[in-house]
Amino acid sequence: MAPSPQQFASDNYAGICPEAWSAMARANDGSCVAYGEDEWTSEAADAFRQLFAIDCDVFFVFNGTAANSLALASLCQSFHSVICAASAHVETDECGAPEFFSNGSKLLVAPPGTSKLTPEMIRALATSRSDIHFPKARVVTITQPTETGLVYSLDEIRAIAALCRELELKLHMDGARFAHACASLGCAPAEMTWQAGVDVLCFGGTKNGMAVGEAVIFFDRTLAADFDYRCKQAGQLASKMRFLSAPWIGLLQTGAWLRNAEHGNACAARLAEAVGAIEGVELLFPVEANSVFIRAPEPVLAELRARGWRFYTFIGGGARFMFAWDAEPQRVEQLVADIRAAARLHVAVA
Ligand SMILES: *Cc1c(COP(=O)(O)O)cnc(C)c1O
Repeated sequence: MAPSPQQFASDNYAGICPEAWSAMARANDGSCVAYGEDEWTSEAADAFRQLFAIDCDVFFVFNGTAANSLALASLCQSFHSVICAASAHVETDECGAPEFFSNGSKLLVAPPGTSKLTPEMIRALATSRSDIHFPKARVVTITQPTETGLVYSLDEIRAIAALCRELELKLHMDGARFAHACASLGCAPAEMTWQAGVDVLCFGGTKNGMAVGEAVIFFDRTLAADFDYRCKQAGQLASKMRFLSAPWIGLLQTGAWLRNAEHGNACAARLAEAVGAIEGVELLFPVEANSVFIRAPEPVLAELRARGWRFYTFIGGGARFMFAWDAEPQRVEQLVADIRAAARLHVAVA
């Protein structure tokens, strides 16, 4: 099949990066113990412990919906609640899985319009009710970077974590693009997580260059009790686990996890810089990771579609472009040129 021109509608359009692919190929050497009792899986877990410089518990699941839902379920009883942003993936894109796997824990959703949670929002949600008739607040979940590509600073995370400690809440991080946040802040993974007060992290592998797979990392290991049973019951225990775990060895040990994210972020920064100079077209959100949301008149978006570009407009009506490890710089330049041309054709000059 002839390859069609590259699209940036989703970072899940990308293939598997060479480092993940070759680690998977190395693991494909004869037979091997099943269900995660193999040496690839223990080496991958060790690679995470090394990366985070702490003795954490690591589990490998197939996708982010499962990682988030099962992590939250392990932090909650069914009568608890989880505080999240209005745009949080757990609220908008997981088909109720967090509520389902926790047997009914309620999501307490912050007011729409902001994609980052603040301590003020969390306090308001956590303390609005304390009577027996309302689900008890138990967990805060933040997405790093957010669904609109904003990155929580270390100080913002620390402030949220301090409030969590004050209110006896656990802190979960949806890191479907965790690597992009590390690349953006230029900080060590430990600084952004357990050192800042995060209890559990879902670290995305799929959007970082793997075929499939996310890691659930418990920095507070007492919270991981029986998590293996939870994964199995949810259909998330891979029998040939080595193929879910080995690619992580390739990503983490070669540094590809960070290089891949840096590349995606750089492509987004390039598009953002170019869009800033085009009249009639503007950025919907600051560009801090690997996504760019563009606000433009509908005829401009239609022109881009007519020129063959695919993109989603489900967030804020803007066109979303996402850049993965494989984004081709010339293709980014073509997109820039087409946005420029579309604006020239369809933006009325005042
Ligand atoms: C992609 C993504 C996930 C994971 O989604 P799956 O399709 O279930 O793998 C989780 N959170 C965020 C913020 C995402 O963008």
